[in-house]
Amino acid sequence: MQDKVVVVTGAGNGIGRGCALRLAEEGADGVVVADLSLDRARRVAGEIVEAGGRASAYAADVRDAQACEDMAQHAVDRFGRLDVLVAAAGINGQGASGDEHDGVTAGLTFSSRVWSNILDVNLTGLMQSDRAVARRMIAGGGGAIVNIASMCSAWASAGSTPYNVSKAAAWMLTKSLAIELAPHGIRVNAVGPGFIDETGMTEKTRADDHAFRAATDRILMGRFGRPREVADAVLFLASDESSYFTGSILYPDGGFNAPSR
Ligand code: NAP
Repeated sequence: MQDKVVVVTGAGNGIGRGCALRLAEEGADGVVVADLSLDRARRVAGEIVEAGGRASAYAADVRDAQACEDMAQHAVDRFGRLDVLVAAAGINGQGASGDEHDGVTAGLTFSSRVWSNILDVNLTGLMQSDRAVARRMIAGGGGAIVNIASMCSAWASAGSTPYNVSKAAAWMLTKSLAIELAPHGIRVNAVGPGFIDETGMTEKTRADDHAFRAATDRILMGRFGRPREVADAVLFLASDESSYFTGSILYPDGGFNAPSR
């Protein structure tokens, strides 16, 4: 990551935070730590700076196209260029916070509001982040984009129809942008994690004994993954080590999807 300037969305918590810390640890020249919450972004940026790195906290709601443009421009203004995007902002409608995004997603009982909220963040927000950053990368001569998709991009999870659809679309967005951006020297790949600990998204599953056991029983490694284990896959796709990868997806899922059911 040396000499590379990185933007991470959803970097205030969970997988995004893990990616921001990991890429900084690998010597990124600057990391824009972007999140809905400026406080959380500041905390993570503080961790990077404390460890000797360069970071800038930034409040951006990826549902807002102009906020995405401003976020990408902030990276260029603050650190001189923009080489890598890790797009991790996402919701599953079951956030621990019980905020406005949340609601029932099981069966067909979910409301249109919950459907729209999830698609707005996980698909439209992702596209707006990718597009804003790609515009600066084209001007700068290339780059690498890593979208955080999900194992649900390929395998439907019960009770999560809006989320599954949003993540399948995120994977198609990744492949489509790989085509559009290859002529500009921009690689676009995705990482599709399984169940990952220390994230807002799995707090409820963790707290529910039955759901937790059902999930871990199917994971060949017998445990949830850690944000750092996702960040290692992201680091590979963000770095020149993956120079022949574009339009690809890696699934750090502990073997969840290996067995036939
Ligand atoms: P997380 O701990 O909840 O972190 C997601 C972060 O994104 C939070 O800080 C969240 O803020 C923020 N965010 C939500 N909406 C946003 C918006 N509109 N604009 C900017 N930031 C926003 O969840 P996570 O598990 O790390 O999720 C990161 C990504 O990994 C998501 O795309 C998720 O779908 C994917 N993923 C997670 C798992 C897993 O097991 N955890 C598995 C597969 C894929 P709030 O807390 O305020 O909403």
